[in-house]
Amino acid sequence: MSVTIERVSKRFGRVLALDDVSFEVPRGSLTALLGPSGSGKSTLLRAIAGLEAVDEGRIVLEGREVTHLPAGGRDAGFVFQHYALFPHLSVAGNIAFPLQVRKKHSKRAIAARVAELLGLIRLEGYETRRPHELSGGQRQRVALARALAAEPSILLLDEPFGALDAHVRKELRRELQGLHERTAVTTILVTHDAGEAMELADRVLVLREGVVQQYGPPRTLYAHPANPFVLGFLGEVNLIRSHAANAYVRPSDLRIESRHFGDAVPARVRRVVELGARTELGLTLDDGQQLTAHLDERRAASLALSPGALVYLEPTRSYAFDWTI
Ligand code: ADP
Ligand code: MG
Repeated sequence: MSVTIERVSKRFGRVLALDDVSFEVPRGSLTALLGPSGSGKSTLLRAIAGLEAVDEGRIVLEGREVTHLPAGGRDAGFVFQHYALFPHLSVAGNIAFPLQVRKKHSKRAIAARVAELLGLIRLEGYETRRPHELSGGQRQRVALARALAAEPSILLLDEPFGALDAHVRKELRRELQGLHERTAVTTILVTHDAGEAMELADRVLVLREGVVQQYGPPRTLYAHPANPFVLGFLGEVNLIRSHAANAYVRPSDLRIESRHFGDAVPARVRRVVELGARTELGLTLDDGQQLTAHLDERRAASLALSPGALVYLEPTRSYAFDWTI
């Protein structure tokens, strides 16, 4: 294992930011820390980086306990949401900085490493630019290169794309994925965006109020969410209440027909929203409960639905839990 977190707790006054957190990150993996704002993601990442002391528990990096070691001794590269490039230094100067402060490398070795990293982030030719001459996405790529310059054993990213436009964010996800494939450096990414975590990470740790809700590969979380919080955090979900039991159903897990079938129940179409590849239906059950269903565009067209129409629906997959959110 590259990172082992053992029963870590951290308190800020009366707030228990991390509550008995344990997990292991395999070497070379890309792990996402996922949760809503205030769930403890940054605190956990900062604890791993050595920027925050923990109250209880142990942190082991590459087999070495670092719980009481300052950040400088932990061999981690760090990128924050807000560009922390040195504005007075060029791109090359920024990337070279961590190598220059170590005073272990020749000028020539540093120049070679900077050139290699510029290639890795596809910003060849930008070495003399200043940060203010770059786009937000380019700045974050430089920040990634700087974090990787000293070949850290672990790369820690705290919502690195959070401040960027949606399309730039998407581009940078692909960039990070490529970078991770090429460098294979163990990476921990903090995000509150479930889509980002599911797309990028090979493991996802879901946090809520400092408590680990679930940890596993994205497909396991998606297919077997541990609780309603995880299910709901990964995407839209309907809670269908009935006297027998409550069931959670994803909008894409509803079979809709114009005629009655099997154990289907009737519903009225309340609204139809065409979103290109898929159509979103607002439905109302006989008892007044409102549901959302997603149909692919062709299926929706073949049903020729409009508000007021009567349809029949049955979940193709549902989840039952013994508590609700
Ligand atoms: P996230 O990154 O998931 O949004 P944080 O780790 O920043 O969450 O915060 C977790 C909890 O700890 C929040 O309730 C936050 O207000 C609190 N917290 C974080 N840092 C501090 C601090 N330096 N002082 C006091 N409370 C803090
Ligand atoms: Mg945070």
